[in-house]
Amino acid sequence: MDPLDELYQELILDHHKNPRCQGCLQHPSGSAKLYNPLCGDQIALGVSVKNDKIEDIAFTGQGCSISQSSASMMAEFLKGKTVDEARGALDLYVGMLKGTRNPDECDALGDLVALAGVRKHSARIRCAMLAWEALEQCLNKS
Ligand code: ZN
Repeated sequence: MDPLDELYQELILDHHKNPRCQGCLQHPSGSAKLYNPLCGDQIALGVSVKNDKIEDIAFTGQGCSISQSSASMMAEFLKGKTVDEARGALDLYVGMLKGTRNPDECDALGDLVALAGVRKHSARIRCAMLAWEALEQCLNKS
């Protein structure tokens, strides 16, 4: 295995074992609960937006390591970002998974680039997208 892949693998496992931003927000400005029937993954995401900024974000869920670690990485990445930055990251992330953008164009996504390898496994793309689909719904509601 390529040493970079190994590093990415570790990062994904670490987020799966110790998910960040776990829980339910008391008064989210947007929330969404999504289910991926292909794999059995569940994500319930809450986002609290104030002055166009993601002040707080938290999720609960269960499912495969890709779905849960991508949610954890996403939440950690987005906390404190503006709504525009979050939408930009969503766009970049979707492009990365669909293969319309190269991972080296996606430096702005930080650690989330670790999930670029998922695009080689089309059955897992939905797993890696679930949290972000929930995010889109949260932002559209808030
Ligand atoms: Zn999954």
